[in-house]
Parts: sequence; C-alpha cells; structure tokens
Amino acid sequence: MKTIKTIALAATLATAGTLAAKTPLNIYRGEQDTVYKAQHIVVATTTPGNKATINGQDIHVYKTGAFGTQVNLAKGNNTITVTASNGKKTAKKTFKVFLADKPAAKQPAAEPEYTQFDQPLYITTRDDAYLQYGDGSDRLGGSKMGYIDSDITLKAVGQVGKLYKIELSDNRWAYMPMSCTRPSDNTTKHVNTGSWSISNTGHTDRVSISLPCRLPYRSWTQLDPTTICVEIFGAMNNSNWITTRGQLGIIDYIDCQQTDSDVLKVVIKLRDKYSWGYSVKYIGNSLAIDVKHTPSLDLKDLTIGLDAGHGGEFPGAKSATGIAEKDVNLDITLRIADLLRQRGAKIVFSREGDTGPTMSERRKTFADANIDLLISTHNNSGGSPLTTMGTSTYYKHVTDRTLAQCMLNRLLELDLKNFGLTGNFNFSLNSPTEYPNVLLEVLFMSSLPEEEKLADPEFRQQVAEKAVLGLEDYLNKVKESL
Ligand SMILES: [Zn+2]
Repeated sequence: MKTIKTIALAATLATAGTLAAKTPLNIYRGEQDTVYKAQHIVVATTTPGNKATINGQDIHVYKTGAFGTQVNLAKGNNTITVTASNGKKTAKKTFKVFLADKPAAKQPAAEPEYTQFDQPLYITTRDDAYLQYGDGSDRLGGSKMGYIDSDITLKAVGQVGKLYKIELSDNRWAYMPMSCTRPSDNTTKHVNTGSWSISNTGHTDRVSISLPCRLPYRSWTQLDPTTICVEIFGAMNNSNWITTRGQLGIIDYIDCQQTDSDVLKVVIKLRDKYSWGYSVKYIGNSLAIDVKHTPSLDLKDLTIGLDAGHGGEFPGAKSATGIAEKDVNLDITLRIADLLRQRGAKIVFSREGDTGPTMSERRKTFADANIDLLISTHNNSGGSPLTTMGTSTYYKHVTDRTLAQCMLNRLLELDLKNFGLTGNFNFSLNSPTEYPNVLLEVLFMSSLPEEEKLADPEFRQQVAEKAVLGLEDYLNKVKESL
C-alpha cells in the first residue's frame, strides 16, 4: 500500500493525522438522535492502515483513515456500532439513531416584498458597483449583469430586500445592492452622444464615446463572429462621425445601433476569433472601451494570474479527516505556478500563503497587474461522501468556454468522473471581462475516495500538470486560429 506523504503546507492534514493517532476512532457523520430517512450515512475516521467495521461489516478504510457506509435503518431505535482496529487494540463506538416519521414540511422562508417608491430616488454608484438582472439569489448572489464604473447617477424606482430596482432606460431595469450606492444630488436624463474615436493604444484598441454625463451600461460577448456589445442606457445617437485613426490591433469594425429610443448599442466586431478581454470605464465623461490585443502566445511572454480559493480564516470545505480546502487549493496553485515558471511565464498570485483576501481585493490584484489570463482553483463539496463525484470547470462569459473546455478535457485524462462544464457561472472571479478566466473545481473534499486522491501529493502534481497542458492546448487553439 502506498503511504501518503503529508502536504508540507497543510497544517490541517498534519493535525488530522495527530488526532487520529491519539484517538483511533472518531465518528465524523451519522451520530444523530433522530433522523427521517432510512438510508443513513455513517462516516468515521481512524489511523490510516487500521481495519474498520460498521454494524459488523468490514468497511474499506481509505489511505486518509476515513471510512463510511450507508446503514439502512428500521423504524424506531437503531443501534450503530463502529469499530477500528490496528490488529492489537480495537476501539469501539456505539450510538443510537431513532428513525421517525417525516415531520410536516417547513414553510419556505417568505421572499422579501417589493416596494415601489412614490418618488424616484437618485443614487450614485460607488467603486466596485455591479448590476444584476433580477432580484433572485443563490449562494453566490444574484446573476450579475456586470460591474459598472463609479460616479454614475441611477434612478431607483423601488426596493426589494437590500436591492434597489434601477430604471436603466424607459423600458429596461436591473437591480443593484444598496451597498454599491450613495445618495446623489443629480437626476438622470436622456442625452445625445457626441463624437467617437477608435485608436490603437499599443496593447489595446480604444473606442471612446463622448457623453455629457456618465450613463449606466452593460456589456456582453458573442461568438461566431466574436463580438463585444455594449449598451448605453439613456443615450440617443447623435454620433455622426465614427472615426478610426491608424491601424487597429484586434478590432475589425465597430457599429452603433439605436435599439430603443434611449438605448444605444455599440457593436465591436473582432478580427481575431479569441477575445483577450476588454474593459469599459469612464475617463471623465467619455466612455472608453479598451479591447485587448491578442498577446504573444508563448508562455514566456504571458502574465498568468493564479487564484487559490479561500485562505486565512476561511478554510472553504473540510474533508472527513479535517483537510481544509484552502490548503489543497494553495498546494495545487503553487504547483501550477512552478510548472508555468519553468516555461517562462510570469505569475501573479491572489495569495501565496495562508491569507484570505476578499474577492474585490483579488480582482484588484489581477486588474492592477494587467494579467493576460486567470486560473482559479477550488475544490467542491456536497453529494454523497461514499461515491466519487467528479471534476468540473466553470466560466461566465461565453468567450471563455473554450478555455474551460480545454482544462476539463485534460483533467478528465486523470480518469476522473465528469461533473461537467458550467457556463454563466456566478463566481466572482469568473465575472471580470478584462482577461480570459476559468475556475477549476478539481474534486470534492466531501467525497471519501476523492479526499484520498486530494491528500496525495502525486495526484495534486498530476492535476497541476493537466491544468498547464489545458492552458497550452488553449494557447495552441488560439495560435491555429490566427
Ligand atoms: Zn471553494
């Protein structure tokens, strides 16, 4: 049997080992007074190498020391006996679980109610403000329409929970967290757009649209052909000159379309198939859309952002034997960094040690460093601890789909179950438009067989190698497309 080396970085893994040595048997899951489901999962941990039983049945002990099974309960009282043995000594724990009839379903929590304001309330955006499409929510928040610049006056017409309902134009609305705003002395109005210019700044092509005041906007990307669209709300087209100066680096052409009486759509068609990101921000009252040129596609010329999820006081998910997701994420991230540095890439980290920067601090680190591409590494949790769950990758913007697919294809070469490729994902570090980005959810911390893999440094090294191969596949695809 291959023994598991401890993760040098993972204090928690060392702690888990020590705990197991002192107390050869810990019940991790299943010791409950009353349950309502006959299929009851029991998970326990012991010293790696020990033998274990649950209710007299031999149970496989993973190399981490975790083991578990599903016990089928009878109505009423059930006794569950768990043992762990090193051949000389046997530790035994017995507990009772009562299987009761299902209690009446709880009433779902009341949704916050919408209140329409009698008078519109004018507000101004703060730094890091974002709009969301609806008032819905999940654990990652409502689906984001996108970040917008500061000092934009908005018209709030109502509120629901901690969100303002924002009237973007006569027929369009969105929602914004109140925390993204402060009161405004201004009101909103329909304005005429001024002159446009399109120029090559060296690393970007800049589309600049002059406006008499800062208006809200939203942007998105489309494929086939690769196009960036920006809608400006409250704008009426009075731009009769769209002048291109000099040779552009990536934009094929731009066009403008008045899609509603007070909504102007800017269409930026790229010459290249793959987008390397763009930003939309105000310079004074001019809306500047900077579209990044395709960089040199050799890793030695690229700056790669690496984000290890969680950290510091935020451990992320925890495994049965006490391994913290933050440590696994960091270990894999540092291995990816080593491999990329060997290929000459410059690395920018959101964290290199056990610290827990906020999401906006992470985004700022990457924006300030002007990274070319971001890989964020997490591990998942949920589902049954007794089965493999699988590996998955995530993107938000459709232009990042190929990157996420390249990563997933390579991870699947490690003979992992496919948990899927997920788009429009609402993870904070999938939302930047400034650089291509992908989230890896390598495996599930909560799955005992996957915990065993994640605890193995050789496996983590293989994951890092596959991530780098996935990135290289992506760069090759871009090269082929030019
Ligand atoms: Zn996580």
